[in-house]
Amino acid sequence: MTTLTTSIPVQRIAKSRIKEVDFNNLEFGKYIADHMVVADFKDGKWHEPAIFPYGDMLMSPAMLSLHYGQAVFEGMKAFFMNDGNINIFRPQKHHARFNRSLDRMCMPQISEEAFIQSLRALIELDKDWIPTSEGSSFYIRPFMFAYEARLGVKVADHFKFIIINSPVAAYQAKPYRLKVEDTYVRTAEGGTGFAKCAGNYGGAFYPTQIAREEGFDQILWTDHKEHKYIDEVGMMNVMFVINGKLVTPKLTTAILDGITRDTILTLAKDMGVTVEERKVSIDEIEAGLKDGSVTEAFGTGTAAVVAPIAVIKIKGNDLIIPEAGPDSFQLRVKKKLNDIRMGVEPDKHGWNYIIHV
Ligand SMILES: *Cc1c(COP(=O)(O)O)cnc(C)c1O
Repeated sequence: MTTLTTSIPVQRIAKSRIKEVDFNNLEFGKYIADHMVVADFKDGKWHEPAIFPYGDMLMSPAMLSLHYGQAVFEGMKAFFMNDGNINIFRPQKHHARFNRSLDRMCMPQISEEAFIQSLRALIELDKDWIPTSEGSSFYIRPFMFAYEARLGVKVADHFKFIIINSPVAAYQAKPYRLKVEDTYVRTAEGGTGFAKCAGNYGGAFYPTQIAREEGFDQILWTDHKEHKYIDEVGMMNVMFVINGKLVTPKLTTAILDGITRDTILTLAKDMGVTVEERKVSIDEIEAGLKDGSVTEAFGTGTAAVVAPIAVIKIKGNDLIIPEAGPDSFQLRVKKKLNDIRMGVEPDKHGWNYIIHV
């Protein structure tokens, strides 16, 4: 809980666009809320953030991020709690990861205060855009990119930090059918896989498109050396329930340190479930699906929370994972997390950043 009030300059939109939003049919990312935070890093320092109407902006065709890829983002969520207050989920943790990503990309760090207070002001201003239906949320997209116009390959001198928000519906996806990737990599150890930088997505599109053409929904990414150990699923972390234990690949520089991953591992321990963070091989999952010791497989991320996996094709065989029932770990942990966010269960880890409205 915090009682700080912010004084950030605000230029209000002349006429809200909220009437254009079909709140009963929110496609992910289709609608962007009325306002955005913008801050400039120039002459070696950050200039105070301000809030502007969301809209197009001028940029040079020589803008460095377009050519050399200095672009980093975050993805987090806010919700209305059952008592009507607004909850931003774990913004400090997202801020810390943002700075780690920025560091890897030679981009300037941003203070926790600037990040959270500008976000808070933005959310208070656009709170009418936060959807209220069950499972819906306000998706928050902070990002930074090189803004300097210049063609030489160099670390930029001028960056923009922006936050935009989008009302999103509850995530509903059919359980995934996965391809084990053994040709392409999302990243390699020592690369940028742990950073939430734009290029990681750009590089993943092509192998994902091939997998889709082959009839899969997502890729199960494996290590770059041997394609033997599992890294992630699509753009999510991956978890398995094996002999009743929650097993997930141990973090490396090739794996994104998911906030949802951390949240679920923490809740699992609270629920008395044994957690193992270690290498997980394709061979182990193949054997475990055949002998029934692997009972659940799912992706974890802010957008979906948990995304069930139904089929993994390994060495030409479709291996089936049983459908997650109401007693499954993934549905129990999802409910527990939701109860904490809504204020139904105590927030004993201090994850909720509450704005009293
Ligand atoms: C964002 C992201 C995740 C999930 O992280 P969360 O903080 O849980 O949303 C996992 N893997 C990749 C590659 C990502 O970009």
